[in-house]
Amino acid sequence: MNHSPAADDVETGSSAVGPPRGLSPSRYDPDRAELGRLVAEVGETAGTALPAYRVDQLWQGLYRDLIGPEDVSTLPKALRGPLANLLPPALTEATRSVGDGGDTIKWLWRLADGSLIETVLMHYKDRSTVCVSTQAGCAMACGFCATGQMGFDRHLSTGEIVEQVVRAQVEAGDRRVSNVVFMGMGEPLANYDRTWAAVRRLHGDLGLSARHLTISTVGVVPGIRRMATEGLPVNLAVSLHAADDGLRDELVPLNRRYPLAELADACQAHVTATGRRLSFEWALIHNVNDRLEDAARLADYARPLGAHVNLIPLNPTPGWPTRGSPPSRVREFADEVNARGGNATIRRTRGTEIDAACGQLRAERANADSVNADRSVPVAAPGRRGNPTPGGNGSSR
Ligand code: SAH
Repeated sequence: MNHSPAADDVETGSSAVGPPRGLSPSRYDPDRAELGRLVAEVGETAGTALPAYRVDQLWQGLYRDLIGPEDVSTLPKALRGPLANLLPPALTEATRSVGDGGDTIKWLWRLADGSLIETVLMHYKDRSTVCVSTQAGCAMACGFCATGQMGFDRHLSTGEIVEQVVRAQVEAGDRRVSNVVFMGMGEPLANYDRTWAAVRRLHGDLGLSARHLTISTVGVVPGIRRMATEGLPVNLAVSLHAADDGLRDELVPLNRRYPLAELADACQAHVTATGRRLSFEWALIHNVNDRLEDAARLADYARPLGAHVNLIPLNPTPGWPTRGSPPSRVREFADEVNARGGNATIRRTRGTEIDAACGQLRAERANADSVNADRSVPVAAPGRRGNPTPGGNGSSR
């Protein structure tokens, strides 16, 4: 952990909008009204009042054509330079890995302050999905998660979140990125306002359907309750992993603050308000949460909420001693949940050979890259490439 903001801030949600302190805005940070003010300022500096359609041209460049101010040919050349300087891109590609025969692309991006985050683009037959990060690092401290093992660096700005989708769409070319899952690094509901502003931007400005957006959370109850009041029916995925408080307290430490009964109430409020089907994520950890009694508890927890359960064998990470469940156990577990009236499917995994699981690419980079030697990333040398163990996480649907 590089620094430790107040616990309330990192756990239950920052109420701040705008870029985190000390960070200047990047091109996808300002909303349309703020873009208007910026264009007007540039005009004043140049000594001319600019017509309102200049804002529309800039907006169309950013959100329709997915290009920066420097490339918006409808803008006068004298405006493009100053606007590009005011609105730099947020993301610089540090590395990119390609897997699944070109169908999975994972980026490690360097941000303006040197923080590293990951984005994964996954092409399927019928759709393309991008998995975005909402924080650099994470404060939730789930021991089995590579990002949780790193600790928290900082919240991402709205522009840093939105630009991940834009860059993935540019890469995807003719294939439309129709789905966005907030399952990359970080806890989206601990960075609520910036994440929700990104959701609004994706929906309102990039034209993504709300039902194709999914926010995944460890169970930040106040955030789930706020989502239920927003009037935009995005999907909610909860990383459950245990359906009894004793085990969940260990696997997902935030459970000590928001135990299962409170979580279920908040989930019910979301389902009632949005009409969207809830999903639970369950990473199967061998002999920890993959026993038949775990399946029975899960079914009892999920059934009244009408939740769909996504099962994934735990993807091994360097800082966690346990292993994912073998395929036969995964099958038995799924059968048991379903026999008890739950609704479980085994998730197809993606990107295993390129370490596309949460935080893995950055963990590897932190170990390999002497530039980052001063970063306190508490992860042991992974040596994970070519690991044949099946696994995956949020980047696998
Ligand atoms: N903080 C949010 C979103 C990021 S994690 C959340 O927890 O939901 C996205 C998903 O990957 C979560 O379901 C998380 O539990 C899961 N995950 C993290 N590490 C994993 C691992 N080693 N194996 C399998 N799934 C993992």
